[in-house]
Amino acid sequence: MTQNYRITLLPGDGIGPEIMSVAVDVLNVVGKRFDLSFEFSTALIGGAAIDETGEPLPAVTLDMCRNSDAVLLAAIGGYKWDSLPSNLRPEAGLLGLRAGLQLFANLRPAKIIPQLIDASTLKREVVEGVDIMVVRELTGGIYFGKPKGIFTTESGEKRGVNTMVYSESEIERIGRVAFETARKRGGKLCSVDKANVLEVSQLWRDRITQLSAEYTDVELSHLYVDNAAMQLVRAPKQFDTIVTGNLFGDILSDAAAMLTGSIGMLPSASLGADSPGVYEPVHGSAPDIAGLDQANPLAQVLSAAMMLRYALNQPEAAELIENSVLQVLQQNYRTGDIMSPGMKLVGCRAMGEALVEILLLKSN
Ligand code: NAD
Repeated sequence: MTQNYRITLLPGDGIGPEIMSVAVDVLNVVGKRFDLSFEFSTALIGGAAIDETGEPLPAVTLDMCRNSDAVLLAAIGGYKWDSLPSNLRPEAGLLGLRAGLQLFANLRPAKIIPQLIDASTLKREVVEGVDIMVVRELTGGIYFGKPKGIFTTESGEKRGVNTMVYSESEIERIGRVAFETARKRGGKLCSVDKANVLEVSQLWRDRITQLSAEYTDVELSHLYVDNAAMQLVRAPKQFDTIVTGNLFGDILSDAAAMLTGSIGMLPSASLGADSPGVYEPVHGSAPDIAGLDQANPLAQVLSAAMMLRYALNQPEAAELIENSVLQVLQQNYRTGDIMSPGMKLVGCRAMGEALVEILLLKSN
C-alpha cells in the first residue's frame, strides 16, 4: 500500500533553491521505488520571505510546517539582508521556526566518507571509520537560562550574566532521544558535562545515569567536556553517540563535523516532542556561489535521507540514498568544494543528475 507523506519544503536563500531541487528529484525517485508518495508544499522563510512579505517567518509558513509530517529546509541568509535589525533578519526566521516547533534535540552526524578522507585535516589512520552522532539539547541551558543580560552594579560597573540551568524533565527528554538514537546505531552513548565544577552538570549526570536503567542495551559512559574535546581530535573512533547540553553541544558538534573536512556533505536533524522535525544541511546559504550552479547538493540530499530515517521511519529508503551518494563519489564526481586532482568537476545540477541515474539503476 502506498504511504503518503506531507513534506514542507523551505528552500530559503542563496544556494537553497538549487540544492533543494536536487533533493526533491532524489526523493521522487526513491518514493517510486518504495511506494511512498510525497505531497510537497513549498513555503517562504528567511530573506526570500522578507522580500515577499516583510517578515522572515510568515505565520502561514509555520502553520504549513506544523501540519506536515516533516520539514526539509535548505538555508537562509545573505548580504542583502545583513543590515536589517536583528528581529527582521533571515536568522530570526530560523530561530522562530525552532521555537515555534519546539525543536529541543539537534542531531548532527559526523561520518567519514572514505572517498573524501583526504579532505580531513587529521591523519587518515585517526579518522578512518569515524561515525559519530552528536545529540545536542537545543532549547535550554545557558543560551536561554535566566537571569541574563548586562547589568550595572551599585558601584557603576557593568556585569554580564548568563545562567546555565537544566530541569530534570529537560534532561530526561533529551536523554531519551539520545538513548533511542544510540540504540539504532552502535549501542554506545557518551554523556558530556562538567560535573566536576557545575551543579547543573551534576544533576545532568545523575539523571542520565538513572535513565540508563531503562536502556540496558546501551552502554553509557561520561566525560567532562574538556576531555571530550581532546578525545574527539585524539581518538574520535571511540565515540558512537554523544549527548550533551546546548553550549557544549554547539562547540563539540562543530568540532566533530570538521573531522570530516567537508561542510557541503553534512546533514542535520532537529526534533520536537509533538511537532514535525526539521531536516537541513549544516552549511549556510553560500551567497558567494548562489545562482552559479556550483553548490554541492549532497548535504541537502543526506538531510532528506535523515528525514526518511527519523521522521518517516523508512530506513531502507534512507540507506539507498546514502549508498547512492557514496557511489556517485566513487564514480569520481565532485563539486568545487570537494574537488581534488584527477576527479570530475561538476555543478550542482550535474551532480544531481548523476545521483538520480544511480538511483534509477539501483531501483530497477
Ligand atoms: P556558509 O556555510 O554559507 O558558507 C561558508 C563557505 O562554504 C562559503 O565559501 C560557501 O561557498 C561554502 N559552502 C557552503 N555550503 C556549500 C555547498 N553546499 N557547496 C559548496 N560550497 C559550500 O557560511 P557563511 O558564509 O558563514 O554564511 C553565509 C550566510 O548563510 C549568512 O547569511 C549566514 O547567516 C547564513 N547561514 C545560514 C545557516 C542556516 O540556514 N542554517 C547556517 C549558517 C549560516
